[in-house]
Amino acid sequence: SETLLKVEALEKFFPVKAGIFKRTKGYVKAVNDVSFEVKAKETLSLVGESGCGKSTLGRSILRILEPTGGKVLFNDKNILDYSKQDLRKMRRDMQLVFQDPYSSLNPRMTVRELVSEPLYTHFSISKMEADQRVDEILEKVGLPLEHSKRYPHQFSGGQRQRISIARALVLKPKLVVADEPVSALDVSIQAQILKLLVDLQEEFDLTYLFISHDLNVVKHISDRVGVMYLGKIMELADTEALYEEPLHPYTKALLSAVPTSDPLVKKERIILKGDVPSPTDPPSGCPFHQRCPLAEEKCQNVLPEFVQVRPKHWVACHLVEQ
Ligand code: SF4
Ligand code: MG
Repeated sequence: SETLLKVEALEKFFPVKAGIFKRTKGYVKAVNDVSFEVKAKETLSLVGESGCGKSTLGRSILRILEPTGGKVLFNDKNILDYSKQDLRKMRRDMQLVFQDPYSSLNPRMTVRELVSEPLYTHFSISKMEADQRVDEILEKVGLPLEHSKRYPHQFSGGQRQRISIARALVLKPKLVVADEPVSALDVSIQAQILKLLVDLQEEFDLTYLFISHDLNVVKHISDRVGVMYLGKIMELADTEALYEEPLHPYTKALLSAVPTSDPLVKKERIILKGDVPSPTDPPSGCPFHQRCPLAEEKCQNVLPEFVQVRPKHWVACHLVEQ
């Protein structure tokens, strides 16, 4: 199917200021030369430890943060060239669902006010039409209509996430960037919200870019999964290939820490040395070389390119042969 989103060599660098004159002394390369595509109606998940740049990447794609370089093609148009006005229109089609809906929901607004607000911002729409759209979407996300006069604090975490999903979907977007949408929730509630997201995707032909630190969470909802480390994608493949035959040493280590449900499968836990290096002072060569159990001399100096090593399977590692 056709490509909805194409990210090309995207960069988001933050200046690091120091000293009494606050001079720029370097850059944190939070998103460092990232390229990938998302097909219409698929779910692509980006996974990585905290600080790997996945949230910054999601926000840079939506231009909530201004990228430092690269391209974001949405329906073949580079949205980094858009004026503020065009960007506003584009925002209807690209919505963000946050990790912590509580902090993003105004506590003084009722559910109806919260969910209709984006409609009034983006369309000139009558109260009657807006009310109708809100009723429809509340039903779809499983919130009883009689709750629409209540305030966010009167709801559980899972219900608040439903409100925040309703706010994003009431605009009928094409792409939803979901940044850790279930990580603040109990495991049983996580499954409900994930099922809701899958049902809504079907119903509204949505395309998801799903951001998570948890390989378990994304396994069953993703068509493809990308693994990020220090601002770069290290491996990207179909979900089954990534989980069954990971090729990158970092992916292998992450997966070795995920418990299996099958008692016959014995996994050897790969323990990585050290911590994730500071993004203000990233290593030379392969960003993973200080922690990689397979690192060779070349890895210290030469950055491995992100290349397609098998059909639909991309890896950045010197040891993985095409
Ligand atoms: Fe490890 Fe070298 Fe591959 Fe990097 S390039 S993941 S250091 S083997
Ligand atoms: Mg984050």
